[in-house]
Amino acid sequence: MADKKDYYQVLGVEKNASADDIKRAYRRLAMKYHPDKNPGDKEAEGKFKECAEAYEALSDPDKRKRYDQFGHEGLRGSGMHDFSHMNVDDIFGMSGFEDLFSSFFGGGRTRGGRTRRNAPTQGYDLETSVEMSLSEVSEGTEKTIEFTRQDICTECNDTGVAKGSSPSKCPTCGGSGQVARGGGLFQMVSTCSQCHGQGQIITNPCKKCRGTGRVPKKRVVRVKIPAGVHEGQAVRVADEGEPGKNSGPRGDLYCYVRIKPHEFLKREGNNLVVVIPISFTQAALGATIDVPSLNGKQHLKIPAGTQYGNVFRIRGEGLPDLRTRRTGDELVQITIETPTKLDSKQRELLEEFAKTENKNVSPQSANFFDRLKKYFGNSQ
Ligand SMILES: [Zn+2]
Ligand SMILES: [Zn+2]
Repeated sequence: MADKKDYYQVLGVEKNASADDIKRAYRRLAMKYHPDKNPGDKEAEGKFKECAEAYEALSDPDKRKRYDQFGHEGLRGSGMHDFSHMNVDDIFGMSGFEDLFSSFFGGGRTRGGRTRRNAPTQGYDLETSVEMSLSEVSEGTEKTIEFTRQDICTECNDTGVAKGSSPSKCPTCGGSGQVARGGGLFQMVSTCSQCHGQGQIITNPCKKCRGTGRVPKKRVVRVKIPAGVHEGQAVRVADEGEPGKNSGPRGDLYCYVRIKPHEFLKREGNNLVVVIPISFTQAALGATIDVPSLNGKQHLKIPAGTQYGNVFRIRGEGLPDLRTRRTGDELVQITIETPTKLDSKQRELLEEFAKTENKNVSPQSANFFDRLKKYFGNSQ
């Protein structure tokens, strides 16, 4: 219980992710860590269960609300399953999860975790990442993406069988794909370990793919990335994943967006924030300063009496919203630099100034020092 991970992080979605986003993220991860794809990999199985747990919490509006408010504590007594003690087949059998999987395993996976033989199943999704600059986020962009995927072997056309030969009936299960153990009332039926439920084995494998039916192939695609995307969001390119089994449809390709840091501008939602240092005389007297923005240099008027930390807004110089297209603002945060080296003339002028200051203390600091005095007075 102590070191449970944040459910949003587990699924790689933002706190305000829609139900659809959550479902999609879960499907993709469940696919990645699916035991069929990672046989005997305990770590993948752990991840798979972790994702299932996060999905159970976040896919239920009531549980999600409790989690958002109180974290893991909030889900106590809410009927959450203890996934760490469940086996994977049980997770498949759960309502809610079952629908989800039947849609992406093309119906091939059934309750109890057995695979219907020769049913067409959808291919695995693939993921890759694209790097974008803030300017590209502002305008939207198109990127060329190169990746390698397992494609159908053209030599054997996905059968894995050498030309002129054919697979033979599995001797262990006699072609049924299942073996029965025990007898009487409690007969245990399990998937045949020799043919993995296929009912047939390849005795003369294709040389090109060594019997797997698949060979790695380079692929280049152009991907349009809309303006306003955020770090970690993915663009889905339909049907660019791996081919399905038994002529099932291809999976999809997910391109995850990474955003290159900008030298000056930091993103906060759809706004851009820049910190600009000015001199104390500029702050006191007012000035027009140059501010970097995505569209080049902006001139910003700073009024006399500007304080450290004051924020000025340049409207429309932020990033467009992914959905509404409304553009955010640029926020200019001011810091004030105190001179470290004064020449004798400057020093003289400042000392002259300091003499006048005792009579004309600026209101904010007067208030501050009054409060400080009172505070010290009370505490003694
Ligand atoms: Zn082949
Ligand atoms: Zn068999």
